[in-house]
Parts: sequence; C-alpha cells; structure tokens
Amino acid sequence: MDNPLLGRDSLPQFARIRAEHVEPAVRELLAANRVRIGELAALAAPTFATVVEPIEELHHGIARTWSPVSHLNAVLNSEALRAAYNVCLPLLSAYQTDLAQSEPLYRAYRTIAEQQGAALAPVQRQLIEHAVRDFRLTGVGLPPRRKERFKTAMLELAQLQARFEENVLDATNAWSRHVTDRHELRGLNEMLSEQARRRAEEQQSPGWILRLDQPTYVAVMTDAESGELRRAFYEAWTTRASDRGPTAGRWDNSAVMEEILRRRHEVAQLLDYPNYSQYALATRMAHSVDEVLSFLHELAAAARGAAQREFAELEAFAERKLAAWDIGFYAERLQRERFRVSQEELRPYFPLPKVLSGLFEVAERLFGVRIQERAGAPVWHPDVRFFEIASSRGEPLGSFYLDAYARPNKRSGAWMDECIGRKRLASGAALPVAYLVCNFLLPGGGRPALLTHDDVVTLFHEFGHGLHHLLTRVDYPSIAGINGVAWDAVELPSQFLENYAWHPQVLQRISGHFDSGAPLPADQQQRLIATRSFHAGLSMMRQLEFALFDFRIHTEYSPEHGGRILEILREVRSEVAVVPVPEWNRFPNSFGHIFAGGYAAGYYSYKWAEVLAADAFAAFEERGVFDGATAQRFLEAILSSGGSRDALEAFIEFRGRRPDVRALLKQHGIDGAGEPA
Ligand SMILES: [Zn+2]
Repeated sequence: MDNPLLGRDSLPQFARIRAEHVEPAVRELLAANRVRIGELAALAAPTFATVVEPIEELHHGIARTWSPVSHLNAVLNSEALRAAYNVCLPLLSAYQTDLAQSEPLYRAYRTIAEQQGAALAPVQRQLIEHAVRDFRLTGVGLPPRRKERFKTAMLELAQLQARFEENVLDATNAWSRHVTDRHELRGLNEMLSEQARRRAEEQQSPGWILRLDQPTYVAVMTDAESGELRRAFYEAWTTRASDRGPTAGRWDNSAVMEEILRRRHEVAQLLDYPNYSQYALATRMAHSVDEVLSFLHELAAAARGAAQREFAELEAFAERKLAAWDIGFYAERLQRERFRVSQEELRPYFPLPKVLSGLFEVAERLFGVRIQERAGAPVWHPDVRFFEIASSRGEPLGSFYLDAYARPNKRSGAWMDECIGRKRLASGAALPVAYLVCNFLLPGGGRPALLTHDDVVTLFHEFGHGLHHLLTRVDYPSIAGINGVAWDAVELPSQFLENYAWHPQVLQRISGHFDSGAPLPADQQQRLIATRSFHAGLSMMRQLEFALFDFRIHTEYSPEHGGRILEILREVRSEVAVVPVPEWNRFPNSFGHIFAGGYAAGYYSYKWAEVLAADAFAAFEERGVFDGATAQRFLEAILSSGGSRDALEAFIEFRGRRPDVRALLKQHGIDGAGEPA
C-alpha cells in the first residue's frame, strides 16, 4: 500500500503525508466502508460479534486515516492541504449521515439488544444503548412523512444558523470608530493604536480608525480611559445584528432567532420530546429540565451576595456610580492595585521543562503511571516531542505528542485531540495516542520557553483531556476515552487537573527561575493564588444570566406565543443581574454559542462541569491532594471508563453522592448567600 494515509503502522508517517494523498485515501476508504456496511446490514442473524465489532473497527479506521489529515491541517496548514481537506469534509459528512440514518443497521442493533441483551457485558450493552439512542435522535425510526419533515427542519436550521453568523459578522465589520483626538486613545496599548493609525492612513483619513473586532473591543473595555470611547464600543458591540444601536435594523437577527427556536421546537416534537431542552438532555449527564434550572438557581442564590458586595466595592473604588461600560475598566485597575502580580512577571519562574516535569510528576503520583520521552518517533515539525506513558509495572498504556510553540500556519489556541483511539477487537488491538497542542512563546536567546501562569493552567487543562484519552480501559472505539462521554461532563478531567496548577505544593514543583532555579517566592505565590477568586461572584452571575436565558428560551418556546426572547431576557435579568444593563442592550442577537453553535440548551454545561471538577478535587483535598486511594477511585470510576457508563452514576461511585455545588463556591471564596466574605 503506497498511500501513507491508508497504512496502519503503529504511528502515522507524518513526513510522508502529502496533500495529494488525502482525497484518494478518503475516497478509497469510504467506498470500502460502504460496501462493508451494506454486507453487515444484510446479515440475517446479526450479533454483537458479527455486526457491532466490525462497525467499531470501521470507526477506528476512519479516525486512523482522517485524524492525521485534520491535525496537519490545524498545525501545518498549507493551501494544498486546506483544499484537500475541504474537498473531503462533505464526503465524510455524507458518509456519517448515511450511517446515522441507516434503517437496516438501526434494526440490526435493536435486534441484538433484544436477543442478546442479557448475555452481553455492561460495556457492550451501554455501547448498543448509545448507538440505538443516536439512531433515534437522527430521526431514523420515524414514519416517512415525519422523517421527511425532520430532515427538512434540520436543513433549514443549518441555513438559519449560518444566516445568524453572517449577520453578526457583517454588523461587526460595518462599524468602526474614527478617532481624531489623541486623548481619546489614552490607556490603549501601543500596538493597537499603531494599527489604528495605519488603518486611517490606508483610508487616507487623519487620526486613527478602531475596528469592532474582539481583541479591540476587550482592550477598549479594560484599558481605555475615555468613558465616551468605552460607551461607543459597548453600544456598538451589544447591539450588533439588532433593532438598536449604530447599525439598527440593517442585519437584524430578531426574526432569524425566532425561526431558529421554532425549528428546534419542531425537531424536538417530531421525536416526541415536549421541548428542545428535553431533546438536548437526551445525551447529557443532566437528565431533566428541573434539574438544570434548580442547579442554576441554586448557584445564583449562593453567588448573589458576593456579587453585590464585589460591585459595591468596585463603585467605592471608582468613587462613583458605574455604568455597564465602566466595569471592566475599574475591575482591571482594582485587580492591579490589590494583587500586584502580572502574568509577564511570572514568566521567568515557569520554564517549560520545569513545568513539564512537575506536571508529569503530578500524573505519576496520582495514577501510578510512568511518562518518558522517546526520541525518533515520526513527527511533523522538529519542535514536536513524543512521550510514552506506561503503568507502574511497565505495561505500555499509550503515547502522546507535544507541539508546544506558536508558529506560522498553526491554528491559535490549545487543544487535545485523538491521534489513535484505543481498541481491543477480534480484528486487532491498538493503544491510544494523543496530540497535545499549545501556542507558547518559543525559547530564544539561550533561554528555555517561559510560560505565564495562564499558559501553565492551559497545559494542565489539556493534559487532563489527554489522560482521559490515554488512561481509558474501554476496548470499543465509540465509547473509549472521550468518545461518547456526555457533553456536559467532558470537561471534568481537564478542569479537575487545572486545580493542581493552583496548588501550593505543585507550584513549588513546577516553578524554578530559569536563571537561579529558585521556586516562585512565597508572597508572589500567595498573591497569584488570590487572583483566582477575584470577582468570582460577578463573573458567576454573568455566566448564570447567559445559561438561564439559553435554557429558558429552549424550554418555554410555544407555537402560540413564540420565543418571547426579550421578555425572558428581562425576567432572567431581574432575577440575576447585579450590574446595570441598559434597556437597549441586545446581546442575544449576537449570542452565537446558542443560536449558531453547539451550545443550544447547553450553556449551563460550563458551570456544570466546573462543579463536577471542583467537587471531585474537594474529595482529594479532604484526604490530601495526592491521596492514592482517592486517585485510584477517580481513575477507575471516571478517567478510565470513558463513555462506557452513565456520567452521573460514575460520579456517584467516585464521590459516594451526587455532585454538590458547594465545592465550587468555596474554591471561589463564595461561601453561601448573604454572609460577609
Ligand atoms: Zn477543555
């Protein structure tokens, strides 16, 4: 076999992969898979061994071919590769849709569940249950007329969501601020005003032109001393794509939002769910609408007092009443004055080699694993490093790549992704391999790469996802590692591990000045740890406002009354808003997470997973953060079980009870309602 994307070596041969390999490999694989799926679906007496295992093998094969492609597209982008990637996207999506809507396969899985169910292992039963559920959620079992309507509604939804995004983008691009008085730029960093000056020059205008992109908006809100400039940006930003503000009515998303809610409601009803929230919960850890709402209300009740105190304190600091566009600015000043710690000053204390060895030590102490670098593995860039992870007895468990530094043609941000998934099937076995990707500053001038503490937290976060993938003991690809894990629980291991990056014992081990080797001085360490709970109440209430709004509009939609979007927003605000919000604020009209992205009826997940992570970490704090028995339970119940069991059951097995929000409140210094901080 000459196409490296179809080879099944133990690791991808990155150096041999060329853009021209992509499309032929994908076409060949998909064609072969379709033939195979046809054969499997036609079997007269389907069993787990004759249908499910082979389908799992096909999943594995697709990932083996496609994962290196999408990875290279993200970290070593080129025009040729991007073109090949884009040609293949619709091919893969059509394949996935056909598979998800295959009636013969759906029947086969149900037959296996009915006839073999009792004889199967729990993991196998869970796999089939998941698969049958997912078939059902794509409308496969509906009578023809409803099925047709389901497909049309999904298609219309995709188009409406794209329209929503376009309107936001166009409204954002349409506005800019032309500044002619230098004083108005006071407080903004040099780079930003230099860009603004060049932009004005290009347009042959005097002065400066500031655009409404996100980095500029954030910089203006936190740094600009001119209240007038902040107000102008705030108004433009929070009225984008609406009936208010400087571009009022030109890209108004109001009707689009109404249509989106209507289609989502219809999709849910076609599958016999009373509303879209219930439909969305079918695949989540939270099981009912009430459970989510009371979760959010409980947090709001607990955090309101702290948020009110923080806001009163901020107004006292500013010595005046604050408007919505003043808050970021004064919060930044208060934080600087109080903590006297800056991310840039921390860099010399966090050289990457020191942080990595400290991080590995945490994983080794907790889970009894051994992590070792191995030279000579095929990589896609000379800076990439390769590590193997083994059990304390030396049994190999998996391996991972670390691509740490920013460079051109690499996507920004940080992430963990699956390179190879674990499997143990009749057709063969494979150990998991992960990509850990970050965008840290390069080493240089004889120094190692130096991280900010934000970077350190990011690295711990992604490594937490990595452990979830690498320490899995599940043999079936569709529910191994992070696959098939409820979407509101998938951030549990990553946010859990973040806690270690804030712990004094760990900070001692991962810090060491690159010159002297001295760990972070105790007073600086304390101030750093204290920043973690700065304005925790205010930011919690803000997140809760978004989450409650999202969940209520997706629960309360009715064909007679429509979405009642602004009405519900007002109700939510009267319940949870602590800071003043102008009547003309129209943030829902640009709330892409829920109207265009994957967070519909799911914005609560951010807080949900945070609570799980904080509560899990509290179990460690009770017995010592490196307590072996607690770590073993965490490994067995949660980290190694992937999607093979219900997320709530797994959590209860680990914690001995349901999740409790108090751990998160305590972590943020919010110890219950009304009490003085
Ligand atoms: Zn994450």
